[in-house]
Amino acid sequence: MSSHEHNHGHHHHHHHNDFHDYNEAIKEYKKTFPSKEDVLEHTPDPAVKELIHNMEKVGLETVFDRFDAQKPHCTFGMAGICCKNCNIGPCRITKKSPRGVCGADADLIVSRNLLRWVASGVAGHGYRGRESMLALKWVGEGKLNLPILGPEKLKKSATTLGIDIEGKSIKELAVLVADILLEDLSRTVPDKHKTMHAFATPERVKVWKELDILPISAYHEITDALHRTTTGTDSDWKNIMQQLSRCGLAFSWSSVLASSIAIDSLFGLPVRSTVKCNVGALKEGYVNIALHGHSPLLVSEIVRLGKTEEFDALAKKHGAKGIQFYGICCSGLSSMYRYGGVIPLSNAIGAELIVGTGALDLWVADVQDVFPAIMEVANCFKTVVVTTSDSARLPGAEHYAYDHEHSNIAQTENLAKKILTRGIVSFANRRDIPVTIPQYEVNAEVGFSLENIIKQFGSIEPIAQALKTGKIKGIINLVGCNNPRVLYEKAITDITSKLIKENILVLTNGCASFPLLKLGYCNKSALEHTGSQLKEFLGSDLPPVWHMGECLDNARASALFRALADACGKDLKDMPFAFASPEWSNEKGVAAALSFRLLGINSYHCVESPVQGSPNVMKYIYEDTKETIGAVMVVDVNPDSLGNKIIEDIEAKREALSWS
Ligand code: SF4
Ligand code: SF4
Repeated sequence: MSSHEHNHGHHHHHHHNDFHDYNEAIKEYKKTFPSKEDVLEHTPDPAVKELIHNMEKVGLETVFDRFDAQKPHCTFGMAGICCKNCNIGPCRITKKSPRGVCGADADLIVSRNLLRWVASGVAGHGYRGRESMLALKWVGEGKLNLPILGPEKLKKSATTLGIDIEGKSIKELAVLVADILLEDLSRTVPDKHKTMHAFATPERVKVWKELDILPISAYHEITDALHRTTTGTDSDWKNIMQQLSRCGLAFSWSSVLASSIAIDSLFGLPVRSTVKCNVGALKEGYVNIALHGHSPLLVSEIVRLGKTEEFDALAKKHGAKGIQFYGICCSGLSSMYRYGGVIPLSNAIGAELIVGTGALDLWVADVQDVFPAIMEVANCFKTVVVTTSDSARLPGAEHYAYDHEHSNIAQTENLAKKILTRGIVSFANRRDIPVTIPQYEVNAEVGFSLENIIKQFGSIEPIAQALKTGKIKGIINLVGCNNPRVLYEKAITDITSKLIKENILVLTNGCASFPLLKLGYCNKSALEHTGSQLKEFLGSDLPPVWHMGECLDNARASALFRALADACGKDLKDMPFAFASPEWSNEKGVAAALSFRLLGINSYHCVESPVQGSPNVMKYIYEDTKETIGAVMVVDVNPDSLGNKIIEDIEAKREALSWS
């Protein structure tokens, strides 16, 4: 702050020199970034190391090479103080230029950038949810011929949404429920967000209402976020953060929960099963098809048809032993627990390494987290890549997709048939391609949901009891992406090892769940490394890490959290629960952590947010929201000390509850 005399003759204060120097913090942070060599030395899955070496042998680069090539990273971008919202910029906040050309300061630029990320996250999960909501509606109306595989979920959701289900057919309910979900997604005229009001606890709704952050609809909050961050619109960083919270709630209740209702209603609830995973499970001699992305509609049809005699015979006619499906990222996970026989191989970051085995005949990509880098590897190994969404094309891929209006949705079966046939033809054409498969394979227990956990224990009571007595010290939903800023997959496994030893039950899904699947954490053998109390609760039948599915299945974790809080007669914010996305990277990840904090549950991370340029925004997300929503964001780039913080915080919650 400076005070000086102007030549127009009076004194007043100017604030344009209150520059916060982020340079040292960013410099220190960048020093923690691993190199490819570090990854090769320390990543926990030996299969990953071999896969990276394979890529080197054929002269292909990986995400780790490209991350190294990006070094040194731009300090401005990393501190969050680079603004490109208009073409006067990019403007950066520095000591010599503490404001952008329009006058925006560090607080405003940092908060606007964050808000745009979260708005994208709301759009991401919301978009794929929309496809299933539309499908549910159109199945109900008879425009799309698919079975409704989750009638129980549909009926229960309808009841919770206040629909009188008496005398209504499943198809009628499908339309009624889908209409509410779609309305909550897209409402423009202000009204109650029905899904939120039906499913959230009254305590939370009251808190959100008092903070004036109730969302109108997902589309509305995205539009508002984009609008208010345009040049010269909302210049109050606190008001920007308020919109961030609205987007967080739109994300929870439309993008995630509503999507999950539509998907479960249409495609059915998870089935508990034991699956093989990791690359050693890749089968030579089969038509090998990878499923990669996030939208289950076409994928489900492909898996269903792939298991029919018609396609098995066609595969055999072309010299294959059969058709085998593999899961990459979330499309893979959601089909794995629903249809069985889908082998999970890798998260999004490792996808190109899987293509590099040469074992895949067909790669079916839908939306999100399909990195363009897979194409170079696919071309090298003649793996046919198929894109299936109008919003997600890959140059060089073949496109068998729904159009922009989904006007060809009734063609779902035909599209799936074409794609499968393409895979079989590709198998026949790829006989001469060399295949290198590291031999690592393990069994994993998958398909946990509130519904089947209750079935397993008879009711929620035994779990609530175990939580009260300390057999389960706490429960963490440990999820999220991967990020080459931290050692690939290691923060996830290090933290999980520490927590299960401390009797903390781990729920997982999405990209973070792959190392846990591949390295035996979802296997009963992990009980050996589990604290004695938790082990006693789990018995001989359950692993210490419960795999709940794809990233949208955060809805399953929050449903379990809610059910336990209710059973204990406590508010969510007081329960010994935590959320962690140690290696988060994408926009959906920012929104997911925010949405758990809005429930009153702290979020823990080993990756910094781009907020280091604004002490005000840092204080807001790391401290101030404790008072308002009951939770904060906690960042520590060291997995070991982050793990300790999680344990300490959970112990403090227990103490406050007087639970020993
Ligand atoms: S546009 Fe911004 S983040 Fe990108 S390099 Fe320039 S200053 Fe850095
Ligand atoms: S909005 Fe302001 S700070 Fe951002 S680029 Fe334009 S002039 Fe610069």
